Amino acid sequence: MNHRAAHRAHAFTLIELLVVISIIALLIAILLPALGAARRSSRAIKCASNVRQLGMASLMHQSDHKENYPYMWVSDADGFYRTWREQIWEYTGKAPEMYDCPEEAEHRFSEGYNGRSADDILNDSFVDEEVYLDGGYGAAGVHWVSNDGAESCFGRSTGNERSDGRVRSPTKCIMFGDGYTASAGDFYQWWIWSDFAAGNTAGYSRDVEAIDVGNQRHSERANYAFADGHVETLDNDDIPCNPDECWWSVEYDPHS
Ligand SMILES: [Zn+2]
Repeated sequence: MNHRAAHRAHAFTLIELLVVISIIALLIAILLPALGAARRSSRAIKCASNVRQLGMASLMHQSDHKENYPYMWVSDADGFYRTWREQIWEYTGKAPEMYDCPEEAEHRFSEGYNGRSADDILNDSFVDEEVYLDGGYGAAGVHWVSNDGAESCFGRSTGNERSDGRVRSPTKCIMFGDGYTASAGDFYQWWIWSDFAAGNTAGYSRDVEAIDVGNQRHSERANYAFADGHVETLDNDDIPCNPDECWWSVEYDPHS
């Protein structure tokens, strides 16, 4: 081995070094978006798992309440408002994290309200504040209007609970899912609805509702729990709301 060959074997030239650096930079540029996508995908899977467990909790609530789904909200004997989230609390194993979508950074149920933890509020001493808890999941009530409209699985208020037998197609009726209504602050974080005048109108699309946040949270799709307990990840466009079929209502075809 002569002197030049030995020299080449032990040192990089500047060009070689630049090539190596640019290859590493290229690999990072290729891998970073893939890592981001992998993280988004794992958050979507975790969310689907939350929604599934909350759905199971709703079914357990049913079997303890004459086959009735939880109320969407209720005014209790003390005049405090409480939502479906509080009614399935004990069936979740009292786990506030289950109510949080991992993709939702701002509206977090487990962070509590007004300086009080979600546990405190739900474990009855501050139950009057449950309705104000933020959250990533809303119950379907898109056709709700006072004493009118197509009914959703979760009854809107006292005396309007829905029994299992009321749901015509449990595999095609949404109980709740990603998102919430953001029009009126914290008080409306627990449901998904169109607006106060929609009533029985067909053709509802979450995409056109500026007040309806979260339906595109997972790569333009969202997770939904259905009345039979199964979970689907859906593009809003895949949810029928027409005279033949509406997944937002217990009636299945409420829009005559
Ligand atoms: Zn509809």
